[in-house]
Amino acid sequence: MNSIRENVKKLLSEIPAGVSVVAAAKTRTDDEINQSIDAGIKIIGENYIQEAERVFELVGKKVEWHFIGHLQKNKVKKAVRIFDMIETVDSFELAYEIDKRSRTEGKIMSVLVEINSGREPQKAGVFPEQAENLIREISKFENIRVRGLMTMGPRFGNPEKARPFFKQTKEIFDRIQGLDISNVEMKFLSMGMTNSYRVAIEEGANIVRIGTLIFGERDYDKA
Ligand SMILES: *Cc1c(COP(=O)(O)O)cnc(C)c1O
Repeated sequence: MNSIRENVKKLLSEIPAGVSVVAAAKTRTDDEINQSIDAGIKIIGENYIQEAERVFELVGKKVEWHFIGHLQKNKVKKAVRIFDMIETVDSFELAYEIDKRSRTEGKIMSVLVEINSGREPQKAGVFPEQAENLIREISKFENIRVRGLMTMGPRFGNPEKARPFFKQTKEIFDRIQGLDISNVEMKFLSMGMTNSYRVAIEEGANIVRIGTLIFGERDYDKA
């Protein structure tokens, strides 16, 4: 098996300029995460607040922190302290809470709006046609800045099958960018994971979230 160092070096060498890699660190040990950072990872993605607190304690502010999981309202206060960006905002209520807690912290939180591009009932995110409305509502909050979109897309063995979902999310991204909504800066498009990041980049992703390719298979998949 390749080492984490080799995996990161290889990945970073093939990622085009202008695309950022978020290392999806769920279930990984302190040692594994440290190795990835030593090899050049600049952004850590966490799905769970408890894990994030542990790793933040270890690593601190030498990397950027993205929240990529499902955020419960009662965890927002902690999330706002740790994270530089919350990639998974999908409701007004969650945004309201983030705004409130960010104000208390004296912070303006960068967020991405999560799109449920596959329209999967069990998945988080807003349906494509709801994105604009939610973004317009969130844009009124003073302590939140919408900076783009995120999507998971359905999981397929063949990443080509994910392409239409990435394409559609990029179309929403471009359209909302064209609306020029004040306090909204459509800059980041987070799409693609280990098996689909190449396709996602071809379709316009400038953030990819990678776990398995960096750290190896997870013992059990919590995703
Ligand atoms: C785990 C996870 C990833 C990375 O998945 P891999 O297939 O291991 O690369 C990306 N995004 C989210 C939201 C995740 O939870």
